[in-house]
Amino acid sequence: MRKDLVIGTNKVLLGLSANDLEDWAVAQGQPAFRGRQIHDWLYNKGVDNLELITVLPKTWRNSLLEDGFRVGHLNEIRREVALDSTIKLLLETCDGLNIEAVGIPTKQRMTVCVSSQVGCSMGCKFCATGKGGLQRSLAAHEIVSQVINIREAMGRRPSNVVFMGMGEPLLNTKEVLFAIRSINHDLGIGQRRITLSTVGVANTLPDLAQQAVAILGRAQFTLAISLHAPNQALREQIIPTASSYPFEDLLEDCRKYLSITGRRVSFEYILLGDLNDQPEHAIELAQRLKGFQSHVNLIPYNPIGDGEFNTPSLNRVCEFRNLLERKGIASSIRRSRGGDKNAACGQLRRHHLQTLINS
Ligand code: SAH
Ligand code: SF4
Repeated sequence: MRKDLVIGTNKVLLGLSANDLEDWAVAQGQPAFRGRQIHDWLYNKGVDNLELITVLPKTWRNSLLEDGFRVGHLNEIRREVALDSTIKLLLETCDGLNIEAVGIPTKQRMTVCVSSQVGCSMGCKFCATGKGGLQRSLAAHEIVSQVINIREAMGRRPSNVVFMGMGEPLLNTKEVLFAIRSINHDLGIGQRRITLSTVGVANTLPDLAQQAVAILGRAQFTLAISLHAPNQALREQIIPTASSYPFEDLLEDCRKYLSITGRRVSFEYILLGDLNDQPEHAIELAQRLKGFQSHVNLIPYNPIGDGEFNTPSLNRVCEFRNLLERKGIASSIRRSRGGDKNAACGQLRRHHLQTLINS
């Protein structure tokens, strides 16, 4: 049981499993089935306040509220719906911080892109989130809530979750893994439909594999590595923190991760016009990834308004992909979604903060 969540000052129920809630209800002097009722209202009905769980006795509800227990649901403060039906939510934590969550619908899937931190300390040069630094890491319930917030906004059950919003998940590993557990068990989204994206933090990948096995039983989620360059020198130019994590060590850690979990990692590669998108970069990348039997997701740069980088032409993107394929590296091009609505990571929040500052 996650005693840290319900004992002490942080009396939040979201993120707890059905068993946790049963144990907790019994500890509160109630029958165990009350825990299961709360589980149903939290995860299936998406209730945002304990007061609204009308199936519970009113006297107990009142005493829970008096004792400071709460759902832990995030408040929606702004919603933007793009022409392609992508929904971006600006959400507020209980201490007044803003984070983003995005819902991306297609015919077959409904993907939720969640944030793992408020801001990010990694400072990648092409990323809007990286510009503002880190405020704090999110707790598991704040990550789980994002999936529920998007589900309610979309009116549709999410099929996939990607940790590609704000923040670096491997600087918040434990809470991210507890969130994955809850998204998996309590919201019913299969681990194989959950992707954790990381830019890579030295000495964390083998530990991630071990902690994942301890917390989740089996680590079956997809690990995506934001590689973004075919060599160390170019990587350091766009990802400052790469200087403390040599390229070869990162690839070696990916191999260790595979050997512990049995899960292949995939790679993400942001294409920055005239910087890392040339044919020689594709050829070098293919050489470095040989033997990985992995998949590379190519992401054309989404401008963040500082004029520092260029978006490559579609021709260049296709040429890069064709070169990878010819060298035996499976790849795909990630289509930009919600393009008319501050599409890139961290942009809605940045835009909102700027509006607040200017008003
Ligand atoms: N910190 C993690 C996860 C969040 S970033 C990571 O870096 O992997 C998620 C993805 O958004 C990363 O692959 C990142 O490269 C991409 N991204 C960030 N800024 C972008 C931009 N301006 N255009 C396109 N993709 C961007
Ligand atoms: Fe952080 Fe990822 Fe943005 Fe880099 S790309 S600053 S790691 S959120």
